[in-house]
Amino acid sequence: MKKTTLIKEGKAKRLYNTDEKDLVWVEYMDQATALNGKRKDHIAGKGELNNQIDCILFEQLVAKGIHTDFVQKLSNNEQLNRKVKIIPLEVVVRNAASGSFQRKFDVSYLQAFDQPVVEFFYKSDELDDPFINTNQAIALKIIDLEESQRLEKMALEINQILKERFAKAHLQLVDFKVEFGKTADDEIVLADEISPDSCRLVDLTTKESLDKDVFRKKTGDLVTVYQEVLNRLNNSQEEVHV
Ligand code: UDP
Repeated sequence: MKKTTLIKEGKAKRLYNTDEKDLVWVEYMDQATALNGKRKDHIAGKGELNNQIDCILFEQLVAKGIHTDFVQKLSNNEQLNRKVKIIPLEVVVRNAASGSFQRKFDVSYLQAFDQPVVEFFYKSDELDDPFINTNQAIALKIIDLEESQRLEKMALEINQILKERFAKAHLQLVDFKVEFGKTADDEIVLADEISPDSCRLVDLTTKESLDKDVFRKKTGDLVTVYQEVLNRLNNSQEEVHV
């Protein structure tokens, strides 16, 4: 397997074609962005940490039966994925109040929910990724009703698996964002990345933040915190039977 032409460079990853037409080569970069890309920092080591964390989480999800675009880890900062067409929605799942939910409804930080909350945001840099409900997404022909139900169901299953995996690492999964894509044969699969860039994680006991909030709020060193997440996942490694 060889990487060939560059398909695109995103905020944190480079995507390459390969000599297999249905596979893409993903390279995680040492870059952190905040405020929808308005703040950009080079952070040595970040790409390797996110890729390693993402590989552990996707391997776990695959083992538990979630259909994804993940194929295999290639190196500490590279992985192989199936080629998909990304559905332009950020699907957020929340187990407790934080971030935009906390601001919007003025509730206390980490207020727990009886059941997880699923929200959709429309992926658009020009519009600043606005909140979008199911009817709006259907009106804009982004998804149909059946697909929206499928996305919500998959997002909740992913939440359950990730919540349990992080709990083994003594971490509480407060909320996270995922993206889905369609394969060449029109199957919806989990795609993109799951890492401390896209999850809110707090220590189960101390409630200390171990995610990108330390970069957004400038409260700590991103590499130290992401390394801690990776160490905890490695030290609580599960038997994965694929
Ligand atoms: N999130 C993300 N990318 C985005 C926006 C949000 O990965 O462009 C993640 C974020 O890290 C958090 C969850 O989605 O885990 C919910 O984010 P929220 O809506 O609270 O927005 P925020 O306050 O983080 O901007």
